Amino acid sequence: MVQKGPRPLVLCGPSGSGKSTLLKRLLKEFPDKFGFSVSHTTRGPRPGEKNGVHYHFTTKEDMEAAIERGEFIETATFSGNMYGTSKRAVEDVRRTGKVCILDIEIEGVKQIKRTDLDPLLVFVMPPSIEELERRLRGRNTEDEDALTKRLETARQEIVYGREPGNFHIIIVNAKLTKAYSELRDFIFQNIVEKESGPGAPQAQE
Ligand code: ADP
Ligand code: 5GP
Repeated sequence: MVQKGPRPLVLCGPSGSGKSTLLKRLLKEFPDKFGFSVSHTTRGPRPGEKNGVHYHFTTKEDMEAAIERGEFIETATFSGNMYGTSKRAVEDVRRTGKVCILDIEIEGVKQIKRTDLDPLLVFVMPPSIEELERRLRGRNTEDEDALTKRLETARQEIVYGREPGNFHIIIVNAKLTKAYSELRDFIFQNIVEKESGPGAPQAQE
């Protein structure tokens, strides 16, 4: 199933660490270089989220049937909802020749590591649990229950993220511009320049 193409990139990190924010910047700055792997999820859309763009929003029944048919590369349950990367989501990006970016949680990362996708693995770390909570509350997308679950999971994710060998780079998202520059430099050095030679833009502050 896996076709030849640039090495994919996985972004992982606790909910609220800033993965979507960093990704959005990258996709906006380099729309012809990077493509997003659109996951499936059984959670409901947040305001502004579009079906087929941010996620394929689906039901538990439909997702379980699709998993049964072998349509997914990896799946996980996170905070009471199912998430997964379909083979099609990755293939759709590969076909364009762009670098495929996956935003997935840790159980998915462990499964992806067992495939032949061989992605670069980036862990986005919040500056502290307190700041993570402030940002999650500030985002205002979760009720109190979901927020508590996400913060509990975050503590375990941080332990896994910090363990040597689990990720190729850990980016601490304290100041957004600095975190974004680090991410962009890392990707250009390890993927883009390997494909097409030097040419990464200078970091902007
Ligand atoms: P994730 O995709 O990892 O769940 P988000 O990208 O949605 O996280 O970020 C969570 C919240 O934190 C958002 O409201 C976002 O605007 C904010 N945020 C992201 N990065 C920073 C940063 N460096 N400093 C302050 N706020 C940030
Ligand atoms: P959110 O509900 O905040 O969009 O995402 C919750 C968590 O699910 C995040 O950690 C995100 O990275 C992860 N996630 C999103 N899509 C997938 C996916 O396809 N597979 C896995 N394993 N995790 C995903």
